[in-house]
Amino acid sequence: MKYRQFPGTDVTSSVLGMGCMRLPTADGHVDHAETIKMIRHGIEQGIRYVDTAYPYHGGESEIAVGEALSDGWREKVTLATKLPVWKVEKYEDMEATLDEQLTKLRTDHIDFYLLHAMNRDRWHKIRDLGALDFLDKMLKKGKIRYPAFSFHDDAETFAEIATAYDWKLIQVQMNLLDEFNQATYAGVQKYCGERGIGVVVMEPLRGGALARKTPPEVQAIYDAAPEKRSAVEWAFRWLYDKPEFVTILSGMSSMEQLDDNLRIFDQAEAGCLSEADKAMLVKVREAYEKRVRVGCTGCEYCQPCPMGVKIPRIFQGIDQACMFGEAKDFAPRYAKLVEEEADASRCVACGTCESQCPQHFHIIDLLAGIREEFKGA
Ligand code: SF4
Ligand code: SF4
Repeated sequence: MKYRQFPGTDVTSSVLGMGCMRLPTADGHVDHAETIKMIRHGIEQGIRYVDTAYPYHGGESEIAVGEALSDGWREKVTLATKLPVWKVEKYEDMEATLDEQLTKLRTDHIDFYLLHAMNRDRWHKIRDLGALDFLDKMLKKGKIRYPAFSFHDDAETFAEIATAYDWKLIQVQMNLLDEFNQATYAGVQKYCGERGIGVVVMEPLRGGALARKTPPEVQAIYDAAPEKRSAVEWAFRWLYDKPEFVTILSGMSSMEQLDDNLRIFDQAEAGCLSEADKAMLVKVREAYEKRVRVGCTGCEYCQPCPMGVKIPRIFQGIDQACMFGEAKDFAPRYAKLVEEEADASRCVACGTCESQCPQHFHIIDLLAGIREEFKGA
């Protein structure tokens, strides 16, 4: 295992972090025995960072992690969890939620406490409810050691939040397809690298999509590379090549995945990619991007639609299906939108959304095409 330091802290972390959002399950619930075995095996093999959150597995993740880290294992790791910002209605809710999390996790302190899934609206809401005072107070009390946030929004919002407080960690969605999305890699370099804030990566495999199925033209690029590595290994190497990423979270669901990740992260050296590797991975990204049908960024500026059409879910759903498989793979998700009365057939061509879309998409035509394609879904 390789280790990196969080700047401005006394925390040295393993480059591979245990993400606890996709734990092993049985009968629809977390398999506690298997989870305990897996987390402890990971720690024995050198993992020093465990990440969970209030909503993971409907609240069961924190309980299972608390169990896994009891009996002396807690002291061996850096523990991160997150405040469910969307549940907070008043200042007192923040203190009560943290206390509940400490109980579930069977600990008296959280090492990195993150405001969860920040976007522009959530940030303004939680800031105005006194989140920064709350963090200051909890730091003083020793209930948290370092303040942090996780992020899903655009680069402009990222700059606003990253510069608003003395954060010690920021968690971003990053992978070889998201270099220019959300916080962007350039944004991470500017607002974390230059300011000395440690970065944790989530979604290193785009929700597992980079591991599931590799399109033939992408596989051909990998096959032509002199070094033979799996798509998963290339995706992780693209990340740990970059020194800003202190820890990369992997949401492992089985011992087999854990052991494979341990093997891959044994070589987690910054600067590990050659110029030829980097050029090859640019081609991989471009090959995936060519498969995208719409290119919707999910910014939601087109929402709400007066007829209830969930435009971003439709466009992003079809993009996702095309990128990693075929358009028809979107059918089950489209059927769900029909059930929710939020599908493309609801559009009455009022045009409100088109004037809001920063990408200038012909939304009405695109929806009409999708409506025809998935008729009867
Ligand atoms: S054009 Fe269609 S999708 Fe767009 S806002 Fe109007 S009804 Fe909704
Ligand atoms: S405004 Fe455009 S880019 Fe943004 S979610 Fe709507 S369709 Fe997608």
